[in-house]
Amino acid sequence: MDNSPAPHDADVLVIGAGPSGLALALALADAGLRSVVFDGQDEAALADPAPDGRDIALTHRGQAILRRLGLWDAFPPGEVAPLVRAAVYNAADPAPLRFDPAGSGESELGHLVANHVIRRASWAAARWHEGIALQPATRVTALQLETDAASVHTRSADGGERCWRAPLLVAADSRFSAARRQAGIGAAMRDFGRSVIVCRMAHERSNEGVAQECFHEGHTLAVLPMNGGCSSIVVTVPADRAAAMMAWPEAEFVAWVQARLGGRLGAMTLQGTRHLYPLVAVYAQRFVAPRFALVGDAAVGMHPVTAHGYNFALYGVEALAQQLVQARRAGRDLGRLETLLPYETRHRRETLPIYLGTNAVVGLFTDDRAPAKLLRSAVIRVADRLNPLKSAITRRLTDRGRALSA
Ligand SMILES: Cc1cc2nc3c(=O)[nH]c(=O)nc-3n(C[C@H](O)[C@H](O)[C@H](O)COP(=O)(O)OP(=O)(O)OC[C@H]3O[C@@H](n4cnc5c(N)ncnc54)[C@H](O)[C@@H]3O)c2cc1C
Repeated sequence: MDNSPAPHDADVLVIGAGPSGLALALALADAGLRSVVFDGQDEAALADPAPDGRDIALTHRGQAILRRLGLWDAFPPGEVAPLVRAAVYNAADPAPLRFDPAGSGESELGHLVANHVIRRASWAAARWHEGIALQPATRVTALQLETDAASVHTRSADGGERCWRAPLLVAADSRFSAARRQAGIGAAMRDFGRSVIVCRMAHERSNEGVAQECFHEGHTLAVLPMNGGCSSIVVTVPADRAAAMMAWPEAEFVAWVQARLGGRLGAMTLQGTRHLYPLVAVYAQRFVAPRFALVGDAAVGMHPVTAHGYNFALYGVEALAQQLVQARRAGRDLGRLETLLPYETRHRRETLPIYLGTNAVVGLFTDDRAPAKLLRSAVIRVADRLNPLKSAITRRLTDRGRALSA
């Protein structure tokens, strides 16, 4: 009888062909590590995803990683919008907290790219990459973390079932990750009791590349500058109100946004449809376990107000890939806890302060009691005069980071 262990199907199994899972597969493939990537969605939905209303603000460091992965140059130039400046308003107070790239050596704070454009480019790049086996229409239904390998059980849309094995399993299966739970890893979740409605709107006046974040009583309204005379509109309201606003006729919704912006962008029209997202922030208790790691929203699911979710995913992908490539070169086991722990330490150090800070800012700016209103008005006025603070925030956005040498 043959007692030798079942062969490995790849170096790494990845659950989720979202932007994080595909970025990891690309980073690994570039370094010669083979992966199999599973996603429950079918190939048509993954190869040509429909717009989902998310326009992703990318930091300069996020952009640098995308460039190294070969994705940045794959975005059609018209789909990349410069984010030149940002202004944060409190209620009707006309004096905003302003951010601009002056002194950073960059001419903009970052860029905006639609999520479906990122997904499409990521799938196209992975599709032809030797070393990445894409398995669309294939859901992972169970996993097992054993001493010598990780394995997953999959069910495909045609009813076929299969078992796959590799030294390491990585879950990139969203902030409500089932794999995280199956691996016995808990997560702190903060439900803000609010939802965001996101959509694109065309407008008469130029957005001049300026992002606006306006905190009003009962709601916040963000405007992200896109190309072609249009902007991404992000409305945050209590969850029950969001459901009601989604049902408003288009003209009523447009008039509401226009009025809240005080006509700053002139007459506006809705482009496409509105999309609704419940706001729940998630932070995994651990990012790694023997033979297992979490990346992307499965590790850190951010509130979108500080625009860090996907940027963090990219930072994490680069850190994890570096560990795995070093381990392979040294002939070490990819799934050993010692191989994975430096990724956890580094990613936690990088993300936890901003995760907690973002949640605190959201708490302050969505609390409509009188002391909170006074405090946020003071915060905006004082912060606008505190140049070191503003420079520190601008540096975070414009810093390109260093390429990780593996
Ligand atoms: C309104 C909004 C605005 C945002 N703005 C920004 C921003 O400006 N800047 C920024 O950096 N980030 C932003 N983000 C965050 C960003 O969108 C996310 O961080 C990013 O999309 C997460 O990608 P992911 O691959 O980790 O997860 P997902 O995109 O959720 O992908 C998970 C994938 O896993 C698959 N899957 C799940 N379970 C299984 C299973 N069992 N088997 C097989 N496949 C499975 C799913 O089908 C899916 O394709 C925003 C988010 C929202 C909601």
